[in-house]
Amino acid sequence: MDKKKLRNDIILIASLLLVATISLVVLFLTRNTKDFIAKIYVENNIVEKVDLSSKEDGDYYIDGLKGKLHIRRHNHAIAVIESNCPHQDCVHMGYVKSAGTPIICAYNAVSIVIDGTSLNDVEI
Ligand SMILES: [Zn+2]
Repeated sequence: MDKKKLRNDIILIASLLLVATISLVVLFLTRNTKDFIAKIYVENNIVEKVDLSSKEDGDYYIDGLKGKLHIRRHNHAIAVIESNCPHQDCVHMGYVKSAGTPIICAYNAVSIVIDGTSLNDVEI
């Protein structure tokens, strides 16, 4: 058994673990940024900013292109509760809290995009 090689392996594994731990901590800290905002767009214009870092529930009524949308904030997530669109895709999305998952209602030209937590933010 080559003791020097074994020691080098241990150092390598230890430093890999250290790097992994630091990455996790950084990820954890950036995930808890205060800028946890859902932006509601109608035809590419921001009509409402919903602060998802707040614990309080909130209801928002947005005038879409062809009708009203009832949007609700609950438990740091956001959902379309009611919409007049024929396919109800936006309603079926349910509650979303991830920056990588926008809610889109094509019928009403409404999109809800969450900002501030993901490295690959979706910009519209
Ligand atoms: Zn819809």
